Amino acid sequence: MITVVLISHTPDPERTIAAAARVSASPVGAVELLDKLTPDRVDKLIERLISSGHMSVFEHASFTFAIEGISRVTSHQLVRHRLASYTQQSQRYVSLRDFKYITPASVNARSELAGRYHEMVRAAHRLYLEMLDAGIPAEDARYVLPNAAETRLVMTMNARELIHACSLRLCLRAQWEIVELFEHIKAEVEKVAPRLAAELKPKCYRLGYCDETESCGVFPTRAELGERPGGST
Ligand SMILES: Cc1cc2nc3c(=O)[nH]c(=O)nc-3n(C[C@H](O)[C@H](O)[C@H](O)COP(=O)(O)OP(=O)(O)OC[C@H]3O[C@@H](n4cnc5c(N)ncnc54)[C@H](O)[C@@H]3O)c2cc1C
Repeated sequence: MITVVLISHTPDPERTIAAAARVSASPVGAVELLDKLTPDRVDKLIERLISSGHMSVFEHASFTFAIEGISRVTSHQLVRHRLASYTQQSQRYVSLRDFKYITPASVNARSELAGRYHEMVRAAHRLYLEMLDAGIPAEDARYVLPNAAETRLVMTMNARELIHACSLRLCLRAQWEIVELFEHIKAEVEKVAPRLAAELKPKCYRLGYCDETESCGVFPTRAELGERPGGST
């Protein structure tokens, strides 16, 4: 089961973003501006920053998450987001004697294949243990472990990258496990920055159409809207 816990964040993240944005066009500094920013003003500023595409100010708020119970498939997809910091449990330094792994629902739904799936993963783990016991280092024995292997990590992402990553990973065309992971991430941000969390959404909600070749059905694709590539009808 995926668990995501927001372990730390920039204090008052939304006001920090709003104050930073106001600095650019104000005769006074951020400390004074912070005092004057009402919650309503912060909400309106965030809305304006998003609609005008003034995204760099969102980099002033960062969020650190403890993430557990995801597969190595998903951690590999996650770390493709380069504007974040990651620390992942090492398969070199930690011997995985107590081995946990992820089983997709599509596999679980097919009992005849699910049995073979579990058998194969457990056989791989048995060989892994046998190699450890024979003195092979964990860093080499791990080559036999599957992508299904569970992992844990700590990730720090600023709000700008969170908005970007969510636009890609909350899209239902992304894989189910990373969609679920980002749903948990969004739920954690919502607890401390609800206005910002409202901006964590699939890209189609901003575009007004689906830019994938096939839509999940929430918005039509450009082709379905009758647009030619690179221009309107
Ligand atoms: C549905 C889906 C399917 C995918 N399938 C594949 C696949 O088959 N194969 C594959 O290899 N990957 C795949 N990916 C990963 C994808 O190509 C990206 O690597 C990943 O989504 C990270 O996003 P990003 O590149 O926008 O940027 P991030 O790393 O999140 O960076 C954020 C933004 O910063 C800027 N930026 C960051 N680094 C640079 C840089 N070096 N130079 C210039 N600008 C930069 C860009 O504007 C970028 O959008 C897939 C992703 C999704 C969502």
